[in-house]
Amino acid sequence: MFVVYCPVCDRRTLLGVDEVDWVENLQPGMISVSGHCPRGHDVALLTGDMFKPNEDPRYYGPAPKLWHKPVRKLAALFAKLFRRRTNAATCP
Ligand SMILES: [Zn+2]
Repeated sequence: MFVVYCPVCDRRTLLGVDEVDWVENLQPGMISVSGHCPRGHDVALLTGDMFKPNEDPRYYGPAPKLWHKPVRKLAALFAKLFRRRTNAATCP
């Protein structure tokens, strides 16, 4: 029996061994177990010797580096706009 997290239902449920659809070796020591939650949504669980689970099952690791650059540019733009508004509000 496995404890799986369903992101659609936002809750953990038990997945019986007879309810497992797929078991796949992703790499040595890391196994993916797939099935469905009681409401029918797809769920997956990572397990194995190499897998170190996080406390929050909704955390899938750091964002890909591809996302960092646009977000930094957007953050710089908002910081610039915010500075302009605060300067305009403080200056008479
Ligand atoms: Zn669900």
